[in-house]
This record gives sequence, structure tokens and C-alpha cells, in this order.
Amino acid sequence: MTPRTLTSPTFVNGDVSFWHRSIGMPGRRASLDSNLAVDVAIVGGGLTGLWTAYYLKKSRPDLDIAILEREFVGFGASGRNGGWMSAEPVGQFRRYAKSRGVEAARDLQRAMFEAVDESVAVAQQEGFDDDLVRDGLIHVATNAAQLSRARHHLDEMKQQGWGAEDVFELDPRELSERIRVDGVQGGYWTPHCARVHPAKYTRGLGDVVETLGVRIFESTTAVQVEPRRVTTTQGTVRAGYVVEALEGYTLSLKGKARKLLPMNSSMVITEPLGDTVLDEIGWTGGELVGDVAHSFTYMHRTADGRIAIGGRGVPYNFRSSFDLNGRTADSAVAQLQHRLVELFPSLRDTRLEHTWSGVLGAPRDWCASVNFDREAGILSAGGYVGHGLSGTNLSGRILRDLILGKDTALTRLPLVGRHARNWEFEPIRWIGATALYAAYRHADNREYATNDPSTNWAAKVANLVSGR
Ligand SMILES: Cc1cc2nc3c(=O)[nH]c(=O)nc-3n(C[C@H](O)[C@H](O)[C@H](O)COP(=O)(O)OP(=O)(O)OC[C@H]3O[C@@H](n4cnc5c(N)ncnc54)[C@H](O)[C@@H]3O)c2cc1C
Repeated sequence: MTPRTLTSPTFVNGDVSFWHRSIGMPGRRASLDSNLAVDVAIVGGGLTGLWTAYYLKKSRPDLDIAILEREFVGFGASGRNGGWMSAEPVGQFRRYAKSRGVEAARDLQRAMFEAVDESVAVAQQEGFDDDLVRDGLIHVATNAAQLSRARHHLDEMKQQGWGAEDVFELDPRELSERIRVDGVQGGYWTPHCARVHPAKYTRGLGDVVETLGVRIFESTTAVQVEPRRVTTTQGTVRAGYVVEALEGYTLSLKGKARKLLPMNSSMVITEPLGDTVLDEIGWTGGELVGDVAHSFTYMHRTADGRIAIGGRGVPYNFRSSFDLNGRTADSAVAQLQHRLVELFPSLRDTRLEHTWSGVLGAPRDWCASVNFDREAGILSAGGYVGHGLSGTNLSGRILRDLILGKDTALTRLPLVGRHARNWEFEPIRWIGATALYAAYRHADNREYATNDPSTNWAAKVANLVSGR
């Protein structure tokens, strides 16, 4: 299959993301221009930081809160992502269950269902729900091994707190009523997912938070976090509590280089498709769509009829480097476009308009965490393993309760007080990540070639080694 749109030189590569371009880059807020003392200093103006500020201000309007953001609100993953606001787990059920028991791990799953409801409800109440549609999430299996895995996963989900109304298996005919994917063999749908325009959503929450009285300093880079103090390029901030909310950018703080791996995820988006093509694909609702491949891809149909598709093109670069503005390797663009045409052959002549990348923070144990060093007054949250759109909302409410000294059902969830070990030193980190993703690509290719229902051995070995 020839990915013909690659010959088109016209698509934009980088420039943060299509989402930002579609609403125009924001003017920057003022940077910090002197030393400051506040009750709570939040490092990072993504959704983790914004939700924390939002819930704190709603509970305690008297608190003086400052957000310190290197670029502008929503510059990071929160403004660039795939727009899946889903209840998929922010870590591995078996690991949370092992450390805190099966019931606690189920509580976390229930908290994720609530996080989707809450993220949608607040956006509607506060008026930043533009383009937000709640039509659920579909996973499609396009070979026999993927179908076996999807069914196995459905069985596991039932054990993990997903009830009869939370997820539904669909056969190819039922799937084709929602979307026509080439070679589909089965899949499932869950109502627990909303589609959001990531830049509109994050910018909207930022504006609400500022209206509540939170001070947002942009173009202000934090360099080091110490007990009750943040050193930035623009001055020092003293605070009763400091919240590290940097996820994929955590490595930019002194002493945090190996805590969360900056994992690239890349996206491409088509031109608007027009009614004829959309009718042929049959994707007329606002469902989000993902596959069950090892090199997972996620898709989004925009309000103006484009398809965006994302995945881990070049997941990890040597020494955790990445392009800040999201410029994407040609090989990643080619892979994503190839996958798009594989799933929807009628898109083979469709033009791409934009491609971009961002980083999410992967913890060594693939489980999100919220931590609090009470003595130092330092809190942190992140590592949502691709489910940060609703995971950040959950974290924000947990961080609020921790800061306000409340012992609640949220502060007892098993992601609280979870410390994964650091990632390995280079070059082991790069060799490991590169080998793993090569194994996953190999396994995907073999599973398509053989249509054997069992998962390919290369993926089994990779899962064993990575602990995924
Ligand atoms: C391409 C892509 C697609 C994704 N798709 C989905 C999806 O569909 N659904 C989903 O749930 N999740 C998805 N994710 C993950 C999700 O977007 C993230 O987990 C989530 O947004 C993390 O939010 P955050 O606020 O913790 O971090 P971020 O949004 O990354 O915010 C961190 C902020 O800190 C700033 N910063 C960096 N360094 C410093 C510093 N030293 N000082 C001050 N500020 C600093 C950055 O500019 C940034 O604004 C995706 C991620 C990517 C990259």
C-alpha cells in the first residue's frame, strides 16, 4: 500500500499541534518578575496543575495559588493529545491489586468512571465544553490475535469493576453500524468516554482557574523544587505546598531525570473529509476509536469531519530528548498514515494537514501515582500511561484533599503513595525501549500475516521484560 499523501509537501509538521493551530496560538500571560510567597505553588500549566488549582480554589477561595508554566497553559500533552477522555485505567490493575488489594484496585476503576463524569460536568457548568461529545469509545480487532486479546481483556475488565452496563462486545455487523473499518473481526464499546478538543478544553479550564483568582505565570521555567520553595528562571517562589505537575517534562527539574520516561506520541490529521467519504466510513458519531494492536493506535473524528490518528511512532529518543514544538520524524508520519489507510482504504488519496508529537510521562512500573512528602510540603502527580485526560481530574481532587489535610476515599486510592523505581541509565534505557517497540512491531506484522489467534511470542517476551 503506497501512502500517497506523504508525497504532499503541504502538511504542517510541529507548531505544537493542530489543536492549537485550529484556535490560534494564545497571547502569553506575564512571567514572574520578582520573588513571591504563596500558599500553593503549582509547577506546570497542564491539566494536572489546572485541576489542582481549580478544586483548591473552589474549596478554599482564600488560598493564594500560583501556577508556574514554562511556555503557556496547555503547551504540553494536555493541549496536544488525542482527545479521548476515557475511563481506561491509569495503570495496571494487577499491580495496584498486589500492593493494596483487589477491592482497592476496583475502587480506582470506579474513580475513573467518576472522573469522566466529573470532567464532562465541570466543563458544561463552567462553559468550556465546546466540541465535547460523549458517544463512548470503540476498540476494533482486525486480526484473530487481536480478537482473542480483546475478548480476554473483556473478561478481565469484568473482574476489575466494569459492570454489564459499562462495556459491550460488538460483532462485525454491530460495529459496522457505528464505523466501517477494513478487515474488522470484532471489538467492544464503552459509554465511559467523551471526545474533547484538547486545546479548547485546557485553555478553557485555564481561563476559569484565572477567573477564580489563581495567578498564572507563563514563560517561567522551574529549575529546582526544594522543601517549600521553587527556584525558577525568573525568581524564587516560597510556598506552603509545592505541586510538581510536569508529567512528561518532569526530567527538566534538578534530580528528576530518571523518574518518568518522556514517551513520544505522534499524531497526524487529515483535511476535512466531506460527506461522501464519511458516509462510506460510516463514522458519523463522536465515538473515539482504538485498535488492539501491540503498537496501539488511537483515532478521533473531529467536529469538522477530519480524522486524527495517533500512536508511538518513535516512542523514545536517546537521553530522553524530544522536539519541544512537536516536530515529528518522517518515519512516524509514514507509519501513522499507513495505518490510517489500512483501516480506511478510501482515505488513500486524502491529504494530511498537520502532524505533531508530544510527550507523556511513563513510570517504571506503568502505574500512575500521586505522592505527598508532608514534611517537605512537596506533592506530585502523573504517569497516567496515556489516560491523563481524566486521570488529571482525579489527581487534582486527590491533591486538593491531601493539601487540605483530609482523609477521604480519594486519598486512600492505591495510586496515592506509590513510588516506582527510577528508569535505568543510558544507553540501557534507549536500547531497552527501542528493542521493545521493535518487538511489538514485529509481533503486529506476524499476527496480520498468519491470522493466528494466539499472541505472537515476540510481544509476550516484550511484555514480560517491560512489565506492561
Ligand atoms: C500526542 C499525545 C496524545 C495523547 N492522547 C491522550 C488521549 O487521547 N487521552 C488521554 O487521556 N491522554 C492522552 N495523552 C496523555 C495526556 O495528554 C497526559 O497524560 C496529560 O495531559 C498530562 O497532563 P499534565 O498536566 O500532567 O502534563 P502536561 O500537560 O504535559 O503539562 C505539563 C506542563 O509543564 C510545562 N513545563 C515543562 N517543564 C516545565 C518547567 N521546568 N517549569 C514550568 N513548567 C514546565 C509544560 O510546558 C506543560 O505545559 C496523550 C499524550 C500525548 C503526548
